[in-house]
Amino acid sequence: MDSLQNFETPNFTASLSMATTTTTTTNPNPSPASDTISFSSPPSSSSTLSRYENQKRRDWNTFGQYLRNHRPPLSLSRCSGAHVLEFLRYLDQFGKTKVHTPLCPFFGHPNPPAPCPCPLRQAWGSLDALIGRLRAAFEEHGGKPEANPFGARAVRLYLRDVRDSQSKARGISYEKKKRKRPPQVPQPPSSSTS
Ligand SMILES: [Zn+2]
Repeated sequence: MDSLQNFETPNFTASLSMATTTTTTTNPNPSPASDTISFSSPPSSSSTLSRYENQKRRDWNTFGQYLRNHRPPLSLSRCSGAHVLEFLRYLDQFGKTKVHTPLCPFFGHPNPPAPCPCPLRQAWGSLDALIGRLRAAFEEHGGKPEANPFGARAVRLYLRDVRDSQSKARGISYEKKKRKRPPQVPQPPSSSTS
């Protein structure tokens, strides 16, 4: 699991507690960013923002905070896909999705009958949606599409990898249910989907 670069920065836990809670934070202190691309809210924002827009703004603020806390300091203009991957791995510590290791007896079980010590991670679906929002926010804040770190190939590959590995570990298929199931599949038909 730790074959990739470790990203252990305990200091972030205190300053970036937002991701640990499920309560909706209203972000009371939009601190001004000294970057070329602003992290503050766009002036056109009204009180009737959609849930998506609100979430996007929170995600953008979270990422801005992450950059400000980054050591060595990192500005958005120098942010690459590799830094986005760092960010995603950093978020894993706040994850709530059990992802079984291949050694776990529940590997591949969608509904394990007992607890196990496998790590909690961010679910692929959450990360995928997050990257989509951040990618949009980047360009809304003046970033150039060709320089969008959230659209980097490395990020796409990483997300695909997370999807495949979590699909195996959790016994859940993320494929759309369009394809016909081949008849010789040894497993019983899944009863979890309706
Ligand atoms: Zn497990």
